[in-house]
Amino acid sequence: MTKIKMSHKCERCGREAQYREACNHCNRKVCQSCIKNSKRTSTGRAIICKDCCGDSAKRKKHGQA
Ligand SMILES: [Zn+2]
Ligand SMILES: [Zn+2]
Repeated sequence: MTKIKMSHKCERCGREAQYREACNHCNRKVCQSCIKNSKRTSTGRAIICKDCCGDSAKRKKHGQA
């Protein structure tokens, strides 16, 4: 008999987290403290983790016209 152990680790910081959501950009399941922003859209919810948010923020600033 194999005992299946469910892992609830955040895929960004690696901490144990009961509640995680998938980032819409990198598709990793991240915990609340790694979620930078989440908002409701007509198609569902848009989640962005801190990694992806930092990325796009930098790119926006850099490529500002
Ligand atoms: Zn995390
Ligand atoms: Zn992400």
